[in-house]
Amino acid sequence: MDLPNIPNQEVKLPELEEKQVRLFVKREDKIHPLLSGNKYRKLKYNLQMAKSEGHHTLLTFGGAFSNHIVATAYAGKDSGFKTIGVIRGEEWTNTWKENPSLSLANRYGMKFYCISRARFQQKKDPQFLKELKKRFGSFYLIPEGGTNSLAVKGCEEILTQTDLHFDYICTCVGTGGTIAGLINSSTIHQTVLGFPALKGNFLREDIYTFVKKDNWNLISDYHFGGYAKVNKSLIQFINEFRQKTQIPLEPIYTGKMMFGIMDRIKKGFFEPSSQILAIHSGGLQGIKGMNSLLRRKNLPELDV
Ligand SMILES: *Cc1c(COP(=O)(O)O)cnc(C)c1O
Repeated sequence: MDLPNIPNQEVKLPELEEKQVRLFVKREDKIHPLLSGNKYRKLKYNLQMAKSEGHHTLLTFGGAFSNHIVATAYAGKDSGFKTIGVIRGEEWTNTWKENPSLSLANRYGMKFYCISRARFQQKKDPQFLKELKKRFGSFYLIPEGGTNSLAVKGCEEILTQTDLHFDYICTCVGTGGTIAGLINSSTIHQTVLGFPALKGNFLREDIYTFVKKDNWNLISDYHFGGYAKVNKSLIQFINEFRQKTQIPLEPIYTGKMMFGIMDRIKKGFFEPSSQILAIHSGGLQGIKGMNSLLRRKNLPELDV
C-alpha cells in the first residue's frame, strides 16, 4: 500500500490564539478508512516479516471493538494471509454478527476464537500458545494491540523531516508502541507527550523497553475512568471539535487525547509561541460500535 501525502492540518480556535500556541494535527486517520493511523504503521513490518518467514496465517488477540482486530483482518487479506482473531469474551462466539467491528473483520475473512476473560489473560503463556498452534496450525503471532519491536519500527516513520520544528508531539497511548516510535524518531529538542487511554502504571516500563531517550512524559489525567470509558462531556467535546475544525475524533483514544491537549492549553501548560503536533492515530471505524453502546447507556451519540 502506498501512502498518500497528507499535510498536517492546523487547528484554528480562539483558545489557541489567546494562549499564543499553534496546534497542528497529523491526519494519520486519512491513510485508509479501515487500516488507518498507527495500525497501518504497526502492521507494516510485521507483515513483511510474516511473508519472509513463509507464513500463511496471522493470529492476534483483541477486544471485540478493537481497531487492531479490524486492521489485522483487512491488512491480512490485502497481503494474502488467513487471519485468526482470538477475542476477549466467550459471549461473542454466538453474537459476533451483532458487533460492527467483528462483522467488518469477518467480511475480510477473519475467523474468531472467542475465549473467557480469564483465559485471555494467559495470552502470553507458552502453554496456551502451544494449544493455539495445535488448534490452528502454524501462524505468525501478532501480540494484542500489535506492539512489538517491528511495530515500533513502523511508528518511527510517522514523523518526517518537516516535523522537526515542532516543540511538542502529542499522541494517544494504549500499549505504548506508537509513542515509542515517536520518541525514537523525535529530536532531543522535542518533547513527546503521551495521553494514556487507560488506567495503570505499567506503561512507563513497557515504553522504556523500546526507547532510550528521556524527552517524553505521560499525562495520565484524561483516561475518563479507564479503557473505553466515556462520559457526556467527552462526547460533547468530540462533537463540538468536529463542528469547529472538521476533524473527526473517536472517544477511546483520539478524543481523550484532544480533550487533554485543549484542557492543558487552556490551563497554560504550553508556553506562548509553542508549536504542538498532535498525532491523529485513526480508529474512526469504532464510532459505529461506540454509538450503539452509547444508545444503550442513554448517553448522547457521536456525530457521523
Ligand atoms: C490502537 C490505537 C492506539 C494505541 O496505540 P498503542 O501503540 O497501543 O499505544 C491509539 N489510537 C488509536 C486510534 C488506536 O486504534
